[in-house]
Amino acid sequence: MIEYVKEGLLNLVFPLDCKICGKPIRESKGYSICEDCFKTIELIDKPYCVKCNKPLLISVDLFRQEQNIFCVDCKKKKYSFEFARSVGRYDGVLRECIHLFKYYGEKKLAKPLGKLLIDYLTKNEEFRELIDLIIPVPLHKNDLKERGFNQSVLLAKIIGNYFSIPVKEEVLIKKRLTPSQVGLSKKERDKNIFKAFFINEPKEVKGKNILILDDIFTTGSTVEECAKELKKAGTKNIFVLTLARSV
Ligand SMILES: [Zn+2]
Ligand SMILES: [Zn+2]
Repeated sequence: MIEYVKEGLLNLVFPLDCKICGKPIRESKGYSICEDCFKTIELIDKPYCVKCNKPLLISVDLFRQEQNIFCVDCKKKKYSFEFARSVGRYDGVLRECIHLFKYYGEKKLAKPLGKLLIDYLTKNEEFRELIDLIIPVPLHKNDLKERGFNQSVLLAKIIGNYFSIPVKEEVLIKKRLTPSQVGLSKKERDKNIFKAFFINEPKEVKGKNILILDDIFTTGSTVEECAKELKKAGTKNIFVLTLARSV
């Protein structure tokens, strides 16, 4: 509460500007993006691949009739997770927000970005009810030192607190430092991330329904590698949620 009042007073003296459009934000609620910019975020909507959430070029009617529609990739591949979902397209304002958050240390963006995830899980109650435990995708300790924080951990804590779902950040560890996945093909990504993770405390995940949380889903290589390790440790079902999905 005091934080809130302090923030409000600070905004009166030094008004915050929206990090995207530059307009001053009157009631910031701690956000550094204005509401107008936030409203332009394009959410992932039906019809989509039921496995990986990739938007599909079919009619919504056909999507409703058919129970299991997969994209071309998911028809060929077996994943260790049940399904992956993303809130919005990795584009426009959402892409810019994630960049500012991750690479420019705009930690304040955790709040509005976390709210996007909260809204998503509020709307998709049947999905939320499946989750026993949230595991954020870890960073290697060198990357963590450089960035100062793990964006996925911050987001996981926001939704964990809101829905009272436990978050475990020490269970899944990134043991190998991997070059950035940006610009790599699916094959190269798979190879790059192969066996990069290990489970530190298997008893924490055994028999549990796990939500793997990350910021972006690109080809699914990273979350699949995490899911594979979790599966080996005896988890029940694994689900994936990311803020954004590259389309
Ligand atoms: Zn704006
Ligand atoms: Zn798919």
